[in-house]
Amino acid sequence: MLVCSFGESDKYGEEHPEWFQLVKGRRGPEKAGARFSMCVSNPGLHAQIVKLWRDRGGAAKRDGPCFVNAVENDVPGQCECENCRAWDGPTPPDVNKFYAPNFKVYGARFVSDRYARFLLAVQQLAAKENPNAVVVGYAYLNYFQAPTSGVKLNDHILIGLCPSAGWYPRNDDEHAWYKAQWAGWSSTGARVFFRPNYFLDGYSMPFNFAHQFADDFQSVVRAGMVATDFDALTGQWSTEGPSLYLLMRLHTQPDATADDLLADYYSGFGPAGAQVKAYFDYWENYTMKNRQTITDVFFDRVAIRWRTWAKAAHRVFPPETFAPAEALLAKAAAAAMHDPEVRARVAFLETGLAHAKLCVETASLLTLADPSSTVERGRDKLAELLAFRRKHEREWFANLNHDAWVEDLSWKLATETRQPADYYP
Ligand SMILES: [Zn+2]
Repeated sequence: MLVCSFGESDKYGEEHPEWFQLVKGRRGPEKAGARFSMCVSNPGLHAQIVKLWRDRGGAAKRDGPCFVNAVENDVPGQCECENCRAWDGPTPPDVNKFYAPNFKVYGARFVSDRYARFLLAVQQLAAKENPNAVVVGYAYLNYFQAPTSGVKLNDHILIGLCPSAGWYPRNDDEHAWYKAQWAGWSSTGARVFFRPNYFLDGYSMPFNFAHQFADDFQSVVRAGMVATDFDALTGQWSTEGPSLYLLMRLHTQPDATADDLLADYYSGFGPAGAQVKAYFDYWENYTMKNRQTITDVFFDRVAIRWRTWAKAAHRVFPPETFAPAEALLAKAAAAAMHDPEVRARVAFLETGLAHAKLCVETASLLTLADPSSTVERGRDKLAELLAFRRKHEREWFANLNHDAWVEDLSWKLATETRQPADYYP
């Protein structure tokens, strides 16, 4: 996910092994090709980061802010050297409380303070050459939680809050804990931006966390959020409409209530607005009430929220959960009967729901989480799903390319189900 311009061990490793992590007495990657973190307390590394910025013209830029990239590699901070460890703050007592024991950050050393000090060191160095320099880093993995040493940063340090767990739905205490991390980083004096992965979640399902997301977003706004960087939009427009709608509207109206904004969304359904609201409320209640089930399903990490959801879709949304939703949409369709435009909008929701149900049925037959899955077992259902997609794909009810990307690693697929390159004109 993160690309680090200064972390190229092939380029710098021979000459400057001291810039790289020290793990088990050795500098650099633990194994050839393995990911690695940097020795972020090393002054030579700070100087090199500033040099790279200077070489790109950063030091000479005088009009407005100019950004120094100090984003780490996509791996926990691992350096065991004395200087890095001396920069660490006390480990919070709840450091692992909301992490699953098989999550890679669970039990890892808490290193937020060293990363805060690293960003400060780079910023102070860059400021000598250009007072407008703004250093950008992340709060991520084992440096996601707020610092504990009382380290003071400043507004020329910009930190992306990138939680690597904490998917919605959350329990109340977990939700409050995440909000406390936003507030903690903000109270260092740094500026913060929100860079979550939460909208990668949910696959094609009617996975609705609208109100909890809005509350989270608004808490980051109150903590002083200056920007957002959302990874990603998966385009499940008909099944995940309310959450996506709030995501967009909150960027321009962060103080509005979720209910007021959603009232605008439902007003687009005219005479069927109340029925459509009841439909999405059903799924939101379902999603929020089944937090434990959802956590349990993904706990073994056989299926992963952002990449292989289709392995577990039938466990989170068993087919029988669809009947009440279908009944609610039928009421919406009846209410829209005399308004062709609104009826078409309800049909858009019906298409997404029918598609999600087909995905669930297919997942139950083809999931790679079940060793007895065979291509043959799911062949007919898969053919039905693909025919449905070809019939409706131009209605833009969902980004089917994203769904196929998830399914590719989730299902037992025969090569003949792959679309030939010339399928699209
Ligand atoms: Zn170190």
